[in-house]
Amino acid sequence: MKVALVGIGKIAVDQHVPAIAGSPDWELAATVSRKGTVEGVEAFDDLSDLLRTRPDIRVVSLCLPPVPRFDYAMRALEAGRHVMLEKPPGATLAECHALERTARAAGLSLYATWHSREADMVASAKAWLADKTLTRLTVTWKEDVRRWHPGQAWIWEPGGLGVFDPGINALSIVTEILPVDLHVAQAELEIPANCQTPIAATVAFHHPGGADVRGVFDWRQDGDQTWEIEAVTETGTLTLADGGAVMRIDGETSGTAAPLAGEYPRLYAKMAQLVARGGTDMDLRPMTLVTDALALGRRVPTDPFHE
Ligand code: NAP
Repeated sequence: MKVALVGIGKIAVDQHVPAIAGSPDWELAATVSRKGTVEGVEAFDDLSDLLRTRPDIRVVSLCLPPVPRFDYAMRALEAGRHVMLEKPPGATLAECHALERTARAAGLSLYATWHSREADMVASAKAWLADKTLTRLTVTWKEDVRRWHPGQAWIWEPGGLGVFDPGINALSIVTEILPVDLHVAQAELEIPANCQTPIAATVAFHHPGGADVRGVFDWRQDGDQTWEIEAVTETGTLTLADGGAVMRIDGETSGTAAPLAGEYPRLYAKMAQLVARGGTDMDLRPMTLVTDALALGRRVPTDPFHE
């Protein structure tokens, strides 16, 4: 199948282009970007031109930041294309619902991707937790924003999510591996004086079984970076480390990697299946937790952020 990539920035170049190149299902047939291009691939700087002149491209994959994404997604759906969305699937939940209604009415596939759910050990962690009684779960997601998001002004603007841009990856894993749904009970958001979005946050979640579920998210981490989820149960402790790439049970390495190597190759394989069978895959639970943390969170001003 031919796919067009829209928004040729960091994640498109780092992950989408190689994943498509290595896939037996996909051919990168065109790009849309105001500046970026991919060597040897037809480049458009306007989505409408692509939609009008390339009816053979049935699938559009959007790698833009969340705020501009809705307009592109809606135009692609209205032009009868299947759409794959980078995370988070929109800037607001209402946008995501509108896209889903449009896709369903038109019989098109729409996929809200969560790349961290495709990390090697997430499926093994889900299987291990399925029959356990959870007593405590702690998310520790601490990284250096200067290392991972150099020059990205949009993350500090409304809709950019701030530290929840990576934090939503942790929540996409938590919502996948727990057999029950959580909701936000309380949050605290540290917001730099010159920014609109948090640089750090702590969130407490309500768990229907009464487990103590919390998350600490911080973008000011020097040295070692920490992307870890620890789940304490009545019969052992599961640790998912390195963003879901490593699993330990009571300190011992455990689990079996999901088939097919890599998060983005798995996403594109799933998109191929979704288009083949029809339907949408729009799990909005990670985004609901983040938008609720932003709605309920107590705001604490902190030092201005400078690159
Ligand atoms: P980015 O490099 O800052 O932006 C991606 C591209 O989007 C840019 O190259 C730009 O292309 C286009 N763009 C930016 N603002 C736009 C606007 N207002 N209107 C139209 N196009 C605009 O961002 P990124 O890091 O790739 O992230 C994009 C998405 O992927 C985000 O939702 C992010 O959460 C997700 N993601 C990122 C990473 C990562 O490691 N960076 C990892 C996983 C997922 P042109 O200017 O050339 O048009």
